Amino acid sequence: MINASLKELSLALAAKKVSSVELSSLFLDRIERLNPTLNAFVTVDREKSLVMARDADARIAAGTAGPLTGIPIAQKDIFCAEGWLSTCGSKMLANFVSPYDATVIRKMHAEAGLVSLGKTNMDEFAMGSSNETSFFGSVRNPWDTQRVPGGSSGGSAAAVAARLAPAATGTDTGGSIRQPAALCNLTGLKPTYGVVSRYGMIAFASSLDQGGPMAASAEDCALLLNTMVGFDERDSTSLERPVEDYARDLDKPLDGLRIGLPKEFFGEGCDAEVMAAVRAAIAEYEKLGATCVEVSLPNSHLSVPAYYVIAPAEASSNLSRFDGVRYGYRAPEYGNLDDMYMKTRAQGFGAEVKRRILIGAYVLSHGYYDAYYLQAQRIRRLIANDFVEAFKHCDVIMSPTSPSTAFKLGEKAADPVQMYLSDIYTIAVNLAGLPGMSIPCGFVGGLPVGLQLIGNYFAENRLLNVAHRYQQATDWHQRRPGGIE
Ligand code: GLN
Repeated sequence: MINASLKELSLALAAKKVSSVELSSLFLDRIERLNPTLNAFVTVDREKSLVMARDADARIAAGTAGPLTGIPIAQKDIFCAEGWLSTCGSKMLANFVSPYDATVIRKMHAEAGLVSLGKTNMDEFAMGSSNETSFFGSVRNPWDTQRVPGGSSGGSAAAVAARLAPAATGTDTGGSIRQPAALCNLTGLKPTYGVVSRYGMIAFASSLDQGGPMAASAEDCALLLNTMVGFDERDSTSLERPVEDYARDLDKPLDGLRIGLPKEFFGEGCDAEVMAAVRAAIAEYEKLGATCVEVSLPNSHLSVPAYYVIAPAEASSNLSRFDGVRYGYRAPEYGNLDDMYMKTRAQGFGAEVKRRILIGAYVLSHGYYDAYYLQAQRIRRLIANDFVEAFKHCDVIMSPTSPSTAFKLGEKAADPVQMYLSDIYTIAVNLAGLPGMSIPCGFVGGLPVGLQLIGNYFAENRLLNVAHRYQQATDWHQRRPGGIE
């Protein structure tokens, strides 16, 4: 059961071979045993989970269950969930019990009948690539507990990789689903911007943030994505589109698939062995009927600098709500009101969050707005146009997800720029609003390597199909870390 796919779990629940209470207890026991080593969960509440599991069992017995009813999953702690501590990895929200559900949570609980096992650790306010900025301490990578799991959805990634949960939610502003998926040997999908509601997903950079699934396989991601999507009038950037079945095209053959290989992503900057694994995966695709074409994303070298203007600008605005008045932390001692704001924010935010707020306030300030913020927005448009041009010549773009395998805890923590470069292949996708995936494609020195798949707008079905066919032909995604039992 621990290693079963969502489809297998769904069948076992429907055939009453296992109940949701039994299944949830199995994973809750595993969390209790292994979380002290991995630190993947910030909050676990067995009673709450078991109430949901009993409800799910009742729905299964009554014949009103959906395909995933009763399946336990882990929720990134960026999603507000009613009655649950919702911390976003920050001291600022360490005492915040949400009075409402994020749309994603409401859909998963009330509509799909999934059972939440708990809330997973993450970089503070989703700022980071290693999970080391969390107020609740670093998460350990199950493949090597001296190494980072990636970030910011590192708790979700470690939880699924160590099978503390069959699947999880994540969010991705610049790579935070794909990069931890790559570093932990998972499949992760960041949908087209606007497909998954951001209501109740604690905001980092609103024009870039997007929630999505993290799981062992593309098929699991497809099933999970089906429960997350849909128009939401509470999110002004949610898109009104017909609902799709993301498992629909999984089995389609890949004959004639045109893979675009951006020459800028196959030059320098990537570990040679990681690149070799990526190239081997692309060769496997050619065996499956695909052909490769070289494409160009001439402005992609500007994506990290543009992102580190735009994302902090939006963050500085979004995080102004954490002022000690409305919710969350308040400094215990202060003089007047201004002093209360200052002490609250000085004590409540960690160093990386403060750095971003400072950069954001600076680039938005009167004298620098045109030079930095507007200029970055122009670059953002050029980057999006590069993809429009590239997709005239190909159906899917492939690249490494991350330039290296999982790095050691502490290795990049003191050097923000090195940390930011972890996302050189993923960030352009968020700037353009496109869907992107990472799938396992091999190992270097016992550590997983991820292949990034980028699709055109709303091509989630195509991406999942491309990922699934590869996973039928290979078994990288089925490998599990040793030593975590
Ligand atoms: N690592 C990037 C950052 O620190 C992206 C994070 C994310 O996608 N949430 O901003």
